[in-house]
Amino acid sequence: MDPCIICVAITGSLPTKADNPAVPITVAEQVESTHEAFEAGASIAHCHVRDADGKPTPDPERYAALKEGLEKHCPGMIVQLSTGGRSGAGQARGGMLSLSPDMASLAVGSNNFPTRVYDNPPDLVEWLAAEMKKYRVRPEIEAFDLSHIFQAHKMWKAGEFPERPYIQFVMGIKNAMPVDRDVFEFYVRTVKRLFGDNAPWCAAGIGAGQMVVNEWSVIEGGHARTGLEDNIRLDRNTLAPSNAALVKRVVALCKKHNRQVADWRTARNILSLPMKTV
Ligand SMILES: [Zn+2]
Repeated sequence: MDPCIICVAITGSLPTKADNPAVPITVAEQVESTHEAFEAGASIAHCHVRDADGKPTPDPERYAALKEGLEKHCPGMIVQLSTGGRSGAGQARGGMLSLSPDMASLAVGSNNFPTRVYDNPPDLVEWLAAEMKKYRVRPEIEAFDLSHIFQAHKMWKAGEFPERPYIQFVMGIKNAMPVDRDVFEFYVRTVKRLFGDNAPWCAAGIGAGQMVVNEWSVIEGGHARTGLEDNIRLDRNTLAPSNAALVKRVVALCKKHNRQVADWRTARNILSLPMKTV
């Protein structure tokens, strides 16, 4: 098995300081929190930004400041910016793609979220994919549902991505796909069947599902996402003290199951991303 790439989703759109004071909100806090997670073993930073009031925003200037800070303080780390729909609407969701980050997240279909529809209409998905192709940004497909894996495959075959996309399964969002082992295994088989046996994939579990899905990924040869965006607790009674603390849990799972943890060079190799000189 390849070494395990750990992605840290540092902030997200939802958690606040009131939920957990360790959630990094300002760019300075985000850089510091990511640096600690990078030192702990994360090699991808999945990023959202917040405005001065702490609300999610797709503001390209904020993203530019964060990207610059991460490139300076976490040299070599893979920077992935979110085009998710909680921080903006329509084409504003992709305004940061012209910064040419290493990667960006891309949802290719719609589904329900806890209190709303996660709306990803085909014309917007096509536009976001075209922007990623134009700026050579590698998409990470957020598969909230099985149909999203098939849609990503269709788009890849049609040449709509710069390269083979990286597929991530997301499980445990209320009203969407639950944390279910049989479905997880079917997702893995489906990615291998459609994208090739050696196609890398990743998975994220929400809330208490985070560790469960992390362990399945480590066992099955996939890559693992953790971080305060998806889960703010170590257990029912304990808030996670940092993003790094959540990364360390995945490192411990890798040790338990004899998987190596990918450093940023290895991660860039596995994902066929351009190498950086640092
Ligand atoms: Zn996100």
